[in-house]
Amino acid sequence: MKGGPEIDELSAKILAIKTDIKEEYRAAHNKPWIIGFSGGKDSTLVLQLVVETLLELPWSERSRRVHVIANDTLVESPIVQTYVESLLSALSTSLPDLSLPIEIHKTTPLVDQTFWVNLIGRGYPPPTRFFRWCTDRMKIRPTTDYIRERITESGEVILLLGVRRSESTARAKSAKRYDGTGRLNPHNDLPGCFVFRPILELTTDEVWEYLFACAPPWAGSHQALMKLYRDATGGECPVVIDTDTQPSCGSNSIRFGCWTCTVVDKDKSFRNAMEKGFERLEPMANFRDWLKDFCYTEENRMTERRNGQAGLGPLKFDARKTVLDRLLALQDEVKVQLISSAEIRRIEEIWRDDASQHVLNRANRLLQLIGEGR
Ligand code: SF4
Repeated sequence: MKGGPEIDELSAKILAIKTDIKEEYRAAHNKPWIIGFSGGKDSTLVLQLVVETLLELPWSERSRRVHVIANDTLVESPIVQTYVESLLSALSTSLPDLSLPIEIHKTTPLVDQTFWVNLIGRGYPPPTRFFRWCTDRMKIRPTTDYIRERITESGEVILLLGVRRSESTARAKSAKRYDGTGRLNPHNDLPGCFVFRPILELTTDEVWEYLFACAPPWAGSHQALMKLYRDATGGECPVVIDTDTQPSCGSNSIRFGCWTCTVVDKDKSFRNAMEKGFERLEPMANFRDWLKDFCYTEENRMTERRNGQAGLGPLKFDARKTVLDRLLALQDEVKVQLISSAEIRRIEEIWRDDASQHVLNRANRLLQLIGEGR
């Protein structure tokens, strides 16, 4: 990078980060690295800096395995999903030429725990700030399952995350806990996993500055990433690997995170600013708004919770069926797969089980009332 004093300051910071990465990679052990990749700017930068640093090492020193994991919630925004897939495919294609020990993996939630199986199958209402059932099932568990498998294989692993102190007040607070404790910190919930945050001290401007100035070593440019962010009104949906990072999951923009996300209020103005190529998001955004209203309408909900207590319960069976029918119609309209046949099969199984449980509960309640002489 060339330029004035600001760029020089950034060059010094990047040099220090690469030195850290190099020292850690050359440490006298062979614990595999895992890079949590969300497709956002921060994890893109971590990936790029790792690749660039490894390329500076002689071939004989590139022995430690680096796993790049990208989690797909199966309800990702199609725009981000397309971008992530094209970046990972470019990286994968260039790996043999680059001679790097990098493996790319996609993680997904179990069929039993996807957004639609929980909402349409079990009748959970769409997630809110107070009932956020999605992040753990769709993001944390698939990623941590993958990390646990690598820990079982290797004893210990190092997880590289693109978190930055200046991201938010919450992030600054959680980063402060580790100040002065060294480069690697034990993961809160995963014994054997150590967290390395190489870009912790970079500002948002510095991240963009570097990505703007330096094309990725796996070919192409960061134009698509910049375009993705340029007109988006909300934040990105980052890699979430524990409940510490959970609060920043969700985004005001339908371009980031899950397209079904109802945890934060979506900015409806994006429809007005929608440029060519994003038209198909409009019916999806309309569906999401309808879904929230429909599922939080009392008449569409059972009067008993899953645990048998009285209160606003799961969606009624006919309401679940309505959601499925409308989702399939939307899928036909936008010509993108929104639900898989494996999910539909699991939903039908749950409906059968739930229906018999419902009949059983009613019969038990009736017997109880008879027993009480009412
Ligand atoms: S983006 Fe929204 S729906 Fe998706 S996991 Fe995060 S909070 Fe849940």
